[in-house]
Amino acid sequence: MSDSTTAAGSRLGQANQQERAPIRPGKIVCIGRNYREHAKELGNEVPAEPLFFLKPSSSIIGDGEVILLPEQSQQVEFEGEIGVVIGSPLTRASEGDAEDAISGVLALNDVTARDLQRKDSQWTRAKGFDTFCPLGSVASAPEDLSTITVVTRVNGIERQRASAKDMVFSIGKVLSYVSHVMTLEPGDIVATGTPSGVGPLAPGDVVEVEIEGISKVSNPVQARA
Ligand code: ZN
Repeated sequence: MSDSTTAAGSRLGQANQQERAPIRPGKIVCIGRNYREHAKELGNEVPAEPLFFLKPSSSIIGDGEVILLPEQSQQVEFEGEIGVVIGSPLTRASEGDAEDAISGVLALNDVTARDLQRKDSQWTRAKGFDTFCPLGSVASAPEDLSTITVVTRVNGIERQRASAKDMVFSIGKVLSYVSHVMTLEPGDIVATGTPSGVGPLAPGDVVEVEIEGISKVSNPVQARA
């Protein structure tokens, strides 16, 4: 894994944000509206089946790297999430097999340009800017996935806290659902949705997402010069 990270880094050239990224998955699948209170705070219905989208691997940064606020957006927000790493291929998998295929969990920030998300009919631009996917280090998953808790702090103040058991669709369920559309391959990351409490980021902020006691990613925020 470190070999491919190094290769990706040298391809991207000097002083690139991605050079120190922890991993470089083939794809990042993100689940939308997977906590009732978050769907409500954005004025959305809770979906009848999982809603998902892709985030590009080029958006990944690691712990301590800078989240750059792009000039195209006036409202960039944090979304703290439980990320899972796929360890073995999943195609049309059952929930149980999907849970067994998880090789690790990590803190993930699905940074989002909320104004562009509202403006565009799909979310590739809003979710896809460089530096919009901070990832913590990968840790082994606990036996019971529902015990995982995600906490987000901005400038040390807690803004989000939720447990995997608060999800509309469980981790096993969303992995199974996605695998009936696209094969999840080893190294792929699935972001399992953000709880309520999302809010804007401003230059000078430091945002931290923690999978409690397991993985943490902390990033300063700057305006793109
Ligand atoms: Zn999200």
